[in-house]
Amino acid sequence: MYRSTNPATGLIEAEFPTLTPEQIAQAAEQSSTAYKSWQEVPVNRRAEIILNVANIVEGRAEELSEIITREMGKPISQSRGEISIVASICRYYGDNAQELLADEKLNPASGDHAIVRTSPIGPILGIMPWNFPFYQVARFAIPNLLLGNTILLKHASNCPQAAIAFDEILHEAGVPADAYINLLASSHDIDDLIASPHVQGVSLTGSEKAGAAVAAQAGKHLKKVVLELGGSDPLIVLDSEKLSSTVKLALRGRFANAGQACVSSKRMIVLDHVFDEFSAAFSTAASSITPGDPMDASTFLGPLYSAEAREEIMEIVNDALDRGAELLVGGESVGDSDAFMSPVVLTGVTPEMRAFREEIFGPVAVLHRARDTEHAIELANDSDFGLGAAIFGSNAAEANAVADRLEAGMVVINGIAGTQADLPFGGIKRSGIGRELGQYGIDEFSNKKLIRVP
Ligand code: NAP
Repeated sequence: MYRSTNPATGLIEAEFPTLTPEQIAQAAEQSSTAYKSWQEVPVNRRAEIILNVANIVEGRAEELSEIITREMGKPISQSRGEISIVASICRYYGDNAQELLADEKLNPASGDHAIVRTSPIGPILGIMPWNFPFYQVARFAIPNLLLGNTILLKHASNCPQAAIAFDEILHEAGVPADAYINLLASSHDIDDLIASPHVQGVSLTGSEKAGAAVAAQAGKHLKKVVLELGGSDPLIVLDSEKLSSTVKLALRGRFANAGQACVSSKRMIVLDHVFDEFSAAFSTAASSITPGDPMDASTFLGPLYSAEAREEIMEIVNDALDRGAELLVGGESVGDSDAFMSPVVLTGVTPEMRAFREEIFGPVAVLHRARDTEHAIELANDSDFGLGAAIFGSNAAEANAVADRLEAGMVVINGIAGTQADLPFGGIKRSGIGRELGQYGIDEFSNKKLIRVP
């Protein structure tokens, strides 16, 4: 069952039955048939359709933002931000279609005429999470549709309304019915879909557990995968230059979307000589954030996506406290109730605590004191993840040298991790395989076909 439960109220707003295995198999066949004609549509026409998607998304921005907020609790101002990123992704791919898909001329030693043509490969299955319910789908589906692949989309079971709205928009914009098929499918039925001879690749954004299961099945059937998984991003503070702006960004980096972002700044690693000042300013600011009604435009921190999610986060926090971590922010309000939770700031977190190594997908910041830059790099890299990282420092050469040594797919200097349509997004280690967005994103599920004339 796909179920929309408003996390702010706990009320079920809508329910939809899941498809049967037969309906899912049928959809794969339809996607394969649709691929034959969709790949023949001229690139300019596909680009025009993608630009139509941008227009419709912008026209329905308020309604789509409200769907996000009601389904997963994101504060409405942040939901509006998500929708505007979706439109920007459509505009980027629509406006740059010719350049992104242009033939690449090679200069082989043989002197042969040789080009590499970027061609589609067929139906691609996308499996997406609830935390950015429109953005995650757009960054996977839009470049693939532009390329000429067709899409089978399995969204998270707690955001069916977002899944249905995006499906409607694509078709209204001109994407043929079977070139994009929204599957309200149970994750138990996905193995057979991956095995289907019609499916040529799988992209999953979600947890390590789901990523490993999907990649194992894809590997067994020799299908290409892209995985965008969890993260425990470090935010390194090297000095106290512009500290108040660093603190502001760190707060946004950790507490936006109630900390439920893969690239949240989950671990603040602060050099010893700045630690006390940073920790005091960060804690004061964090303790002034109170969770509120996500439909109120002034709310910065809404509920978590479910009451169970808050309980899971609290287990990690309590494990750290039981083992001797220090609670800088939280106090009386730690835990709150239902899906709501006030910010928590911990320090003194050591390797035997879950909070040291696990991804904390909620509003909990962990502050680490680093002896020196070398120790900061060591702490930052002491993670199974390698998604994003942020470095704050006034010495550009030093910040660049640190960036070089971080085990991460994306590093931002004097800023926090984010997303932009024309820049690659993705990680290394247990954070995933491959990249989305920019040129890299459209290349993942393409056939880089060599055409050679000796
Ligand atoms: P999740 O439980 O892995 O769910 C993600 C999607 O995978 C859902 O559609 C889910 O379907 C499906 N799924 C789960 N197990 C599956 C299986 N065995 N086979 C096929 N599909 C399966 O992830 P989540 O907890 O909702 O999302 C949070 C995680 O996503 C965090 O770790 C976060 O860091 C990560 N994330 C990463 C990125 C990135 O770009 N790197 C972006 C956003 C989020 P059901 O809902 O039906 O279970």
